Amino acid sequence: MKSLSVYIHIPFCAKKCNYCDFLSAPATAEKRKQYLSALKSEMQAEAKRYEDFCVKSVFFGGGTPSILEAQAITELLEVLKTAYHMDTQAEITLEMNPATATKEKMESWKKAGVNRLSIGLQSAHDEELKMLGRIHCYADFLESYQNAREVGFTNVNIDLMSGLPGQDMKKWEDTLQKVLALKPEHISAYSLIIEEGTEICQNIERYPALPSEEEDRKMYQRTKEILKENGYTRYEISNYAKEGYECKHNCVYWQRGNYVGFGLGAASMVENVRWTNTCDFDSYLAKCKQPSDFQKEKQVLTQRDCMEEFMFLGLRMIQGVKKADFERFFSKTMEEVYGKVLAKWEAQHMLYQDESHVWLSEQGIDVSNVIFSDFLA
Ligand code: SF4
Repeated sequence: MKSLSVYIHIPFCAKKCNYCDFLSAPATAEKRKQYLSALKSEMQAEAKRYEDFCVKSVFFGGGTPSILEAQAITELLEVLKTAYHMDTQAEITLEMNPATATKEKMESWKKAGVNRLSIGLQSAHDEELKMLGRIHCYADFLESYQNAREVGFTNVNIDLMSGLPGQDMKKWEDTLQKVLALKPEHISAYSLIIEEGTEICQNIERYPALPSEEEDRKMYQRTKEILKENGYTRYEISNYAKEGYECKHNCVYWQRGNYVGFGLGAASMVENVRWTNTCDFDSYLAKCKQPSDFQKEKQVLTQRDCMEEFMFLGLRMIQGVKKADFERFFSKTMEEVYGKVLAKWEAQHMLYQDESHVWLSEQGIDVSNVIFSDFLA
């Protein structure tokens, strides 16, 4: 059987964070109910397409999946378990916001099969959390984290964010050290990106100054050092894990495995065909009422598209890409297709290669977007 990863989008949040441009918004209980019913219809209607696939990972993302009633997660997983072939060892992750996750909900998720939690913390400083528009404080997070452990979650990620307005190295290191003291299995550490249309972007003058590019870079370097010293392996540009705790679901994206996304705006890529669900809430509900008519606009990727993705997604991973995989997928060698690009960046020590692999150097990772764009036709 072929492997499949499933993403389930929950587009609801109690309140929009000031930096967020994800597809998420507050919604009434009635709207949430309608959405869940649509989501189940979509998942059920699509199941027949995946009869020869086995689900190896599930990811409830958002938005804030933890805002839902506990029963909702149980019901969604029930649909998967009955209509799809589920691997009994599947990694099942749920993203949670500390302000919306009670111990009772966690017990229910665990019982339903969730075996990995991803907690959005961002900062251990309440004034930074407030500035970001987060609805929780650090004490809420600590309580959630403790509850997660007491309930028996042994695979927990904590999301953090550096480069915040007014943040200096001392504050960032303090956040890292506080989180490290808790010994989570996985840490995602991203730099804040000011996205257009967000509250921060529109009112940037009301916020403390952003760290300079140099300070931002230093924080990024310190993150790598501190996490390494504490036994976390960096396996992707922004992701660090204790041995054996890399997020299997996200690795599928970077390694171009098959994934199907259910819900509003969810993206899918199965056997080199890509599509994205509508981002319009009412259209999504209407389409799911007649799921047999839920025609998705699909884009069949050309071999060139696939090669480009293979390179720029795979090189996000610290281990890099395998030359043999490239040849197996495309019946051409990496050297034939990208020999000149590889030589150019290798000469600048941005990229290394040996018999079997190509990977980015530390310096290369710092300018990865420039290198990735070189693989595009
Ligand atoms: S909780 Fe996450 S998805 Fe929701 S508004 Fe904040 S950053 Fe966006």
